[in-house]
Amino acid sequence: MTARSSTAADYPLQAAVVATCREIGLRGLGVGTSGNVGVRRDPEHFYVSPTGTPYEALRPEDVPLVNLDGRWFGKLRPSSEWRLHRDLFAARPEVGAVVHTHSPEATALACTGRGIPAFHYMVARAGGSDIRCAPYATFGTQALSDAALQALEGRQACLLGNHGVIVVGVDLRHALGLAVEVESLARQYRAALALGGVKLLDEAEMERVLEKFRSYGRQDAVDPGLQCAGAMPEPGPGGKP
Ligand code: 13P
Ligand code: ZN
Repeated sequence: MTARSSTAADYPLQAAVVATCREIGLRGLGVGTSGNVGVRRDPEHFYVSPTGTPYEALRPEDVPLVNLDGRWFGKLRPSSEWRLHRDLFAARPEVGAVVHTHSPEATALACTGRGIPAFHYMVARAGGSDIRCAPYATFGTQALSDAALQALEGRQACLLGNHGVIVVGVDLRHALGLAVEVESLARQYRAALALGGVKLLDEAEMERVLEKFRSYGRQDAVDPGLQCAGAMPEPGPGGKP
């Protein structure tokens, strides 16, 4: 009997890491081997993309597993930013996935030391009234991880000075979605800065937005002016219900 070759279904979390790495390229959030992706497997372990490996050639079974104490398992050495992933999974039990990119607009802002203030209400998507920028530290160091964790306090995203972006989420889908959102906000903020006269929203308004986001997009959200009137009616004459 010949051995069956492995499929993504055999390694679902590792396959999701590979798919997310590829999405980073497809969505214009990174080139080459910049950035990395991690997902929690259980309270003690996470998978993280291997260091310096082109994503096109990456097979799910080659995505290494890392223990919170720094031991790793598998064929390929984990990302140089494993400390950053490890420290986030250790300190933030609600975090199921970490996505790090060098997405161009957000990285350009981070190279000026700027974070993203409350110039648009969607900034609240990252969990607060601004998206902070952590001070520069050398890639792959404990100093970078410490700076990032501080800038991420109470947030799901921050910029990394002269480096890029880090986003956390309950799972990879949420983290990647927020990475796309942060890049879009950075692009809009840069355009607004170029026009000049940017108006910022105040703390009270950002608090209202944060409150609205708690139920935004949910089918059971309450809106006193809106009622569900049942099933869709058949179209009447002229196509009007
Ligand atoms: P790795 O290839 O080691 O994950 O490094 C990429 C990176 O973005 C470092 O910050
Ligand atoms: Zn990086």
